[in-house]
Amino acid sequence: MRIPFIAGNWKMNTTVTEAEKLVLEMLDKLDRIEGVEKVLCPPFVSLVAIGMMLQSSSIKLGAQNMYFETEGAYTGEISPLMLRELCEFVILGHSERRWYFRETDEVVNKKVKAALANNLKPILCVGERLEENEAGKTEEIINRQVISALNGLEPVHDLVIAYEPVWAIGTGKAASGEQAAATIQFIRDVLAKLWNKSIAQDLRILYGGSVTSVNIAEFISHLEIDGALVGGASLKAGEFLNIVEKTAEIKARHL
Ligand code: PEP
Repeated sequence: MRIPFIAGNWKMNTTVTEAEKLVLEMLDKLDRIEGVEKVLCPPFVSLVAIGMMLQSSSIKLGAQNMYFETEGAYTGEISPLMLRELCEFVILGHSERRWYFRETDEVVNKKVKAALANNLKPILCVGERLEENEAGKTEEIINRQVISALNGLEPVHDLVIAYEPVWAIGTGKAASGEQAAATIQFIRDVLAKLWNKSIAQDLRILYGGSVTSVNIAEFISHLEIDGALVGGASLKAGEFLNIVEKTAEIKARHL
């Protein structure tokens, strides 16, 4: 039984004051929603403040990125050693990191290994670009990204994968539930071959890309889709609450 999972990726939005206000707006209601693992990923600078606000709640905290070295002369970078005192999860391989900051598959692999070695749970993002999708290369790209990100690792349970087609992120053009479910099933097949069938069945795999309270049901009603990584809609307390509530409701029906 995979526990549904919804994470909010706030990206480079909110000052510390705004982040605290956003959490205050949803804290009580979000805390009370059962049956879904709820994770907020604010910018680095708000992790301490938000961590304190979430302390006695059921809501977990994640970072949006990290460097793979533990410490040293890497001006401006944040290490897994620093993060592990502050949060449980870390988003890695997000397409905005891959494309704007030139993160290669090799770098993503080093980050995944460093996170796990420091007891941080990666939310590993994979996804094809529009031209790759149109050229029928989705599976080829996803296969490469998954295999290289997990290269050299033994099967791990402390890992969540998010399928985020690049063309769907922040565009308002979400994939269809069927498309997302098919690619997520493909990711399970890749994991089964790389590791084994049992871990492929156990790991949570999310959809991400223009998820809102209006379209969440389309994704969540597929058994293969265990939740969502939510960007823009996670910056509105009411929207995010609605997404988590609907997920709890629909997934409870699958039990
Ligand atoms: C994301 O940043 O991971 C994301 C899916 O963004 P959005 O929901 O805004 O498309």
